[in-house]
Amino acid sequence: MSALLELHGLSVDIGNRSLLEEVSFSLERSQILGLVGESGSGKSLTALTITGLLPLIGGRVTGGRILFDGMDMAQLSDSSRRKLRGGRIGFVMQNPMTALDPVQRIGEQVDVVSRLHLGLSHRDARARTLDLMAQLRIPEAKAVAEAYPHQLSGGMKQRIVIAIALAGDPDLIVADEPTTALDVTVQAQIIQILTGLVRERGLALLLITHDMGVVAQACDRVAVLYAGRLAEERAVGPLFETPAHPYTEALIGCIPRDEMGAGGLNGIQGTVPSAANFPPGCRFHPRCDRAVDICRTTRPAPRPLSDNGGVACHLAQGGSL
Ligand code: SF4
Ligand code: MG
Repeated sequence: MSALLELHGLSVDIGNRSLLEEVSFSLERSQILGLVGESGSGKSLTALTITGLLPLIGGRVTGGRILFDGMDMAQLSDSSRRKLRGGRIGFVMQNPMTALDPVQRIGEQVDVVSRLHLGLSHRDARARTLDLMAQLRIPEAKAVAEAYPHQLSGGMKQRIVIAIALAGDPDLIVADEPTTALDVTVQAQIIQILTGLVRERGLALLLITHDMGVVAQACDRVAVLYAGRLAEERAVGPLFETPAHPYTEALIGCIPRDEMGAGGLNGIQGTVPSAANFPPGCRFHPRCDRAVDICRTTRPAPRPLSDNGGVACHLAQGGSL
């Protein structure tokens, strides 16, 4: 079976800056792919490109292709693309406060999606909305449907955003840091809800996060982005056991060591360079303690790993470091 979502060498520019360069990965139905990297690595930009929102931020695809269920997204008309988003592709944004309309009742914001994308009547749309709310374990769904966003907690608002993403009966959900704005207990609930949806409905989930703990817990595969390029892409087990890229290894090293988090974060030195100052060669070289001469001059080409993954590092030899 072919993948539901495939990125083939996707490159994206904003103005004259290249913010994504030849990014490739694929996602199958019933699968959760974690897209990870520090902020500034291009994760959100990838989400916006997949959901067709790139023009809103002045970006354009300069190379490569995105295939959704075999369709080349670039070949679709604007209206077909709009139909996909909210319909077969649901988008859960980072901040539920900005995703919801503050002056519209919650129920109406969910209803409109199934009216628009599934052609449901007002009445059927509301029944579907209440049903979705129940599935997302939203108590007193009828009262919540009549409420305005400011009357709900952050965790409840994020559930509503997920209900909106689900209302069009999607095959794919793109969730961009869906738990970042929430406290830890609520974060865990939201991740549980999302992973449950994948298992129960056979959805595909592209889960964008900078939290490797969430990745370890929830994802099947992982794509690691660094400064707009793919560093490594693999199944979650091998990625954590034998990371092939020094950046992956460093990200894993950032997970708090004990459950209480008392050990603190073992942060990676330095920061992701801005697109105006991407270094030559391997973009990670100024922060990499293994860098050798070639790293400073020559871009490491992506190469396959024996376990069906891929890595872009001069020192990775078809296996782990
Ligand atoms: Fe480090 Fe060189 Fe590998 Fe880049 S290519 S991650 S600088 S070892
Ligand atoms: Mg982001």
